[in-house]
Amino acid sequence: MSTTVNKKVKVRFAPSPTGDLHVGNIRTALFDWAYARHTGGTFLFRIEDTDTTRVTDEYIQAAIDTLKWLGLNWDEGPEVGGENGPYLQSARLDIYAEWAQKFLDQKDAYHCYCSAEELEAVREAQRAANVAPGYNGHCRDLTSEQVAAFKAQDRQPVVRMRMPDGGTTFTDLIRGEVSFDHKFVPDFVLVRGDGSPLYTLAVAVDDVLMKVTHVLRGEDLLSSTPRQIRVYQAMGLTEKDFPVFAHLPFVMGQDNAKLSKRNGEVSIAWYREKGFLPEAICNYLALLGWSPGDDRENVTMKELTELFTVEKVHSSPARFDMKKLEAINGDKIRALTLDEFLEWSLPFLTKAGVIAGSDSEIALVKKALPLIQERIIMLSEVPAMLKFLFVKDFTVEAESVSKITDEASKKVLQRSLSELENVTTWSHDAIEAVLRSSLIEEMGLKPRIAFGAVRIATTGSTISPPLFESMELLGKEASLARIRAGIAL
Ligand code: GLU
Repeated sequence: MSTTVNKKVKVRFAPSPTGDLHVGNIRTALFDWAYARHTGGTFLFRIEDTDTTRVTDEYIQAAIDTLKWLGLNWDEGPEVGGENGPYLQSARLDIYAEWAQKFLDQKDAYHCYCSAEELEAVREAQRAANVAPGYNGHCRDLTSEQVAAFKAQDRQPVVRMRMPDGGTTFTDLIRGEVSFDHKFVPDFVLVRGDGSPLYTLAVAVDDVLMKVTHVLRGEDLLSSTPRQIRVYQAMGLTEKDFPVFAHLPFVMGQDNAKLSKRNGEVSIAWYREKGFLPEAICNYLALLGWSPGDDRENVTMKELTELFTVEKVHSSPARFDMKKLEAINGDKIRALTLDEFLEWSLPFLTKAGVIAGSDSEIALVKKALPLIQERIIMLSEVPAMLKFLFVKDFTVEAESVSKITDEASKKVLQRSLSELENVTTWSHDAIEAVLRSSLIEEMGLKPRIAFGAVRIATTGSTISPPLFESMELLGKEASLARIRAGIAL
């Protein structure tokens, strides 16, 4: 079933890459994408990089890579192009300048010569008088003499939009009717003294010129909507042609504080490094603030595009739950085919220096991966789990040494060694049979104690893939050599 819309939907995701994209951005991108796909519309990706002091080329590239990595393919935007480009705002400065000039000519905007100090003095006075802060309209109607005097002082004016008296009301698809009294929306700057455009000008001009029909974005931008609507009006649009707004509720942290870019842990780069799968992130974020009407905990990208409607987005804030995301990631890892799991794991293994990437190493990794697929929740756990198979200078991890140097452990290792030396077919079944009959049945030991010592000696750690399979993969020679070294410790 598809949502009925009159015109072809075009949704945009328009981040300002002043840092790595974070969970909140990604959820917005995901909903934008899902809405475009659900309606058979267009998903447009635009980079809002007019804040040259904070946006870097690396962050721009990272934003592009992140969307690709998540599988949120766009129809118009960087790399793919499109008829409404360029899609980097820094390449559109002439367009904004032209519109600003038009607004000046139409008297929708005016030059404001107030200095930063003068504006601060106004704010100070407003604070003292307990009135809403904001521009006081000082330069709204300057005489030509006043303008000449400011010019003589060499002041660089900003371009300011005139907000008419009254208010702005619009229907938000999530929040319903929203109204702003212009008493609290003072005249605002469109272009700085140095000629650079501000967000409000660029975003509104682009949404119109790029023919965006739906603006789904974070709630933090709700208050900028009346200003954007003012720009649409100055561009000659009437209400029926305004994009429709839908402001997505905040994503809160577990502590109920707002998740923010400043918190490194929510940057998507962090999740990538930890080894979260894009599917798990999308699955989890899709259900953060939206549900198709049931209490499911899993949704595939395909289902999301089939089921996503803005009406089903909740209006209250969503709470981010790391444990849930981890659980979903574990599920998604278990659902991978062996080849997929291999492909995801290899970069982690090479980056950690566990393997160099030779064919024989990869073949061994492929044999070992099924042993750990059920046991990990993040791909970054793979190197530590498989390291024992590849290390050249094997040593037992420092914190486990004391667990095998006591007399009892030594006896376990000595007995294991003498039994295993006689195993001719080195298979996990044979290894298990021999160790069970000697250590458990004959010596009467508890499995945890007996196998724990063998595990530390052969894998170097208390945490490893299943022991007997691990020893099989390690090979007889290496396993026995390690047990001997363990006894000698
Ligand atoms: N570039 C803005 C930001 O990243 C978002 C623009 C918008 O969605 O309207 O905060």
